[in-house]
Amino acid sequence: MSGSARRGTIAGMTPSLQIGSATIVALTDGEGPFFADRTKAFRHATAEQWAAADRFDPGAVTGDGRWWLQFRAFAIRDDTGITVVDAGIGPADAPAASWAPVPGRLPDELAAAGIDPAEVDTVVLTHLHTDHVGWAVVADGPGRRPFFDNARYILQRTEIDAVEELNPGLRETLLDPLCEAGRLAAVDGERALTPRSRVVPTPGHTPGHQSVLVESGGELVAVTGDVLVHALQLLHPETAYEHESDPHRARESREALLRRVAEANGSLATPHLTEPFAPARA
Ligand SMILES: [Zn+2]
Repeated sequence: MSGSARRGTIAGMTPSLQIGSATIVALTDGEGPFFADRTKAFRHATAEQWAAADRFDPGAVTGDGRWWLQFRAFAIRDDTGITVVDAGIGPADAPAASWAPVPGRLPDELAAAGIDPAEVDTVVLTHLHTDHVGWAVVADGPGRRPFFDNARYILQRTEIDAVEELNPGLRETLLDPLCEAGRLAAVDGERALTPRSRVVPTPGHTPGHQSVLVESGGELVAVTGDVLVHALQLLHPETAYEHESDPHRARESREALLRRVAEANGSLATPHLTEPFAPARA
């Protein structure tokens, strides 16, 4: 790990990273195999690149050559409050149920980390794919309510505007309930969350994808979202992923973010790699 960032655990089980006065907590909602042949997900990767990625992240490949991925959210805690970045695959009836290993265990992970959902003041949804919004809104009688009941939910306006293209069902199951509860905050571009953290647009994976930068004690951590989804894209940032809305913009965002974090000797917090925290590479 770079700089003076310190890896640790909370209550002996939840992985965390301490930078300055901020703690970044990794919350694993679930893990499971990808729904398709991994070589079709990264069709331009060479055999050498696959071999290097498998050496870097051996936990991301099964014995029979399938992509095994984590589905992770993060909490950022400091003296100004708690921000949660992404909301996992969700409960058994979540929109990701058609392909992801639901039910997820985010509520238990939050409890193990000593976080009450009611104390979370901000939820950043990096993008509108179903494996990142699962616990954002949950069933409540005949209706749906925000799971983090006191939080504002931050999405880029561009992402909200793209919901029909990304997943039309999320308008009714996610965006409308957040709006009706007065919890949806649409932002345009970079926006401070706390004195130490902000959202930055990282478009390409989806039109309004965003990441979170945390700076404290002279250190930088990027909670990336799906700017990179596999070690291939960390070791070879030019590598396109099949399900990127705009592969060219995705590559530009990935290269720019990785360069920025590497120049600061900082760390990445990623949702899908086996290890939650990784150093950025130039
Ligand atoms: Zn994802």
